Amino acid sequence: MNLEDLKNKLPKTTNITKALYEGSNIVFYTKSKDFFLNGSKDIKELVAEYKKRITIRPDAAITIKAEDAKAKIEEIIPKEAEVGDIIFEPEFGRVLIFAKKPGLVIGKNGDTLREIKSKTFWGPEIRRIPTYSSDIVNKAREIVHEEAAYRKQFLNRIGEKIQLSKGSKEGWVRISALGSFREVGRSCILLQTKDSKVLLDCGVAVGSGNGGTNPFIDAPEFDLDALDAVVVSHAHLDHSGFVPYLYEYGYTGPLYTTKPTRDLMAMLTLDYIDVLQRESGKAPYTSKGIKNAIKHSITPEFGEVCDLTPDMRLTFQNAGHILGSALSHIHIGEGLHNLLYTGDLKFGPTKLLEPAYTRFSRVETLLMESTYGGPQDFIPAKKEADANLIAAITETIKRKGKAIIPAFSVGRAQEVMVVLAEYARRNPDFNFPIYLDGMIWDATAIHTTYPEFLSRNLQRQIFHYNNNPFTSDLFNEVKSQTERKKIIDEKDPSIIITTSGMITGGPIMEYLKHLSSNKKNMLIFIGYQAQGTLGSRIQKGWRDIPLANKTGGTTMIKMEVEIRTVEGFSGHSDRNQLISYVGNLQSKPDHIILNHGEASKSINLASTLHKIYKKETTVPQNLDALRLK
Ligand SMILES: [Zn+2]
Repeated sequence: MNLEDLKNKLPKTTNITKALYEGSNIVFYTKSKDFFLNGSKDIKELVAEYKKRITIRPDAAITIKAEDAKAKIEEIIPKEAEVGDIIFEPEFGRVLIFAKKPGLVIGKNGDTLREIKSKTFWGPEIRRIPTYSSDIVNKAREIVHEEAAYRKQFLNRIGEKIQLSKGSKEGWVRISALGSFREVGRSCILLQTKDSKVLLDCGVAVGSGNGGTNPFIDAPEFDLDALDAVVVSHAHLDHSGFVPYLYEYGYTGPLYTTKPTRDLMAMLTLDYIDVLQRESGKAPYTSKGIKNAIKHSITPEFGEVCDLTPDMRLTFQNAGHILGSALSHIHIGEGLHNLLYTGDLKFGPTKLLEPAYTRFSRVETLLMESTYGGPQDFIPAKKEADANLIAAITETIKRKGKAIIPAFSVGRAQEVMVVLAEYARRNPDFNFPIYLDGMIWDATAIHTTYPEFLSRNLQRQIFHYNNNPFTSDLFNEVKSQTERKKIIDEKDPSIIITTSGMITGGPIMEYLKHLSSNKKNMLIFIGYQAQGTLGSRIQKGWRDIPLANKTGGTTMIKMEVEIRTVEGFSGHSDRNQLISYVGNLQSKPDHIILNHGEASKSINLASTLHKIYKKETTVPQNLDALRLK
């Protein structure tokens, strides 16, 4: 589509100085104050005709001086909004307003925003200041802002490329299994048509893996220089951990993901290379790769349709697994094929998130995870799980012990926090310190930055009843080794939630070293323990465990602590939930492909799904290629 032609469809009075692509959107820059303020009704028809988002931005000639605009904005916005930084991006004609209460910056029916526009002629955009300050969120935002000039040119480059040609009803669609097939870890799928090459996830294997930790990007069909886009479903390292490698080694295309995933991924990958550096002196990439990934990120909202390539359109929807986790629906060609890639999904209730979305109007191929797809994989109802966790903790506290809960920093830790905060609200006697160690605090800060991604019930609690569970006084951040030592030495009972979730390293090691010889304490497992991890061994009954000591050797520790597993906290669907997800999809797929599961589990689930739904099911191996159309 020629943008000049598009521009000419509008009256001359719109005074459009520039029309250009920004990713899959179109942007008009205008010198007409009236068109900037009231133009959205004039472009309605164009939007409907071309099915593109069109944004109207002010030409630099009409924006008032930044310092004057800043003063005006401060005057207009009510104090209660608690405005922080006000940052101008002249490249985009916009001003970023950071506030603790974004709703008050928008005003009733958007009145306050409109007033800002009409008095400054800058386009205001609001960013939430998290309840807890997080270096990671600040850093990610800083990179995106600092690189505004580059991003403008980058988004334009991507936009021009996407427009090149229209998709067609002819053609073929193919996927290559580059990781996570018949295994849990290193998710990586190459999706190809004759015009496009898109990577769905690019993760590393955590835990022992199945020989090798990186995805098979040495497969002959993978060419970094020919890659059009990378789509990341969620921030867990087995889905995002290898993405920075691509950017470190020359990829400059877009990274499509949600905003929470972008920030969580930055946090987890930084920690990942840090740990590798400390343990082995080498990591597959540096922080440069991570920074570059953020710089090239495009973050659509759930439900927003955006063009990935000339013949692929992407829509993210909630996957229910962790904050920001997304199902990727990819429409290929003009009605040629529709692929739904689930990433990790939870089709069941949790306190933190809504269950995975099902109302896709067309899906021909479903590519679904199967972590808990085995015949034995049934998890108890969430209510029961919550009660069991509370029971385990209160038992420990009654005997004056400490409850130690190893948890992933992202997801399970926050789910436990919400359960405990809610319980404490109803039972004021439950008033014991809860210590959060490892990256849990940072991850929680990111949760408070994006409350609109949380479950409806949590949002209601936060926005209407002012009950933000994450800011409960019960929670204490452990900031240093000295503080850790104090907690260990304390006589009083307490609850410690700490990383790593599978006891493969991190502060949990310190707690085990000092607290596992005491029978009064309890070690409570709430998450998946991968084969070969220390967590899995302890769960299976190992009681003499070797822990690294300061001199580089190992010290044997006798586990006297009570060990309990509370089932039902998983962010994954269990077997029934996976089966019922397929049944609940509004559009039934013709073909179901399973990944992200141990071979026997994926195969067993595939055969059950085939029996129930009479559809073709496939469980490829890594390096298989499969034609979808
Ligand atoms: Zn995950």
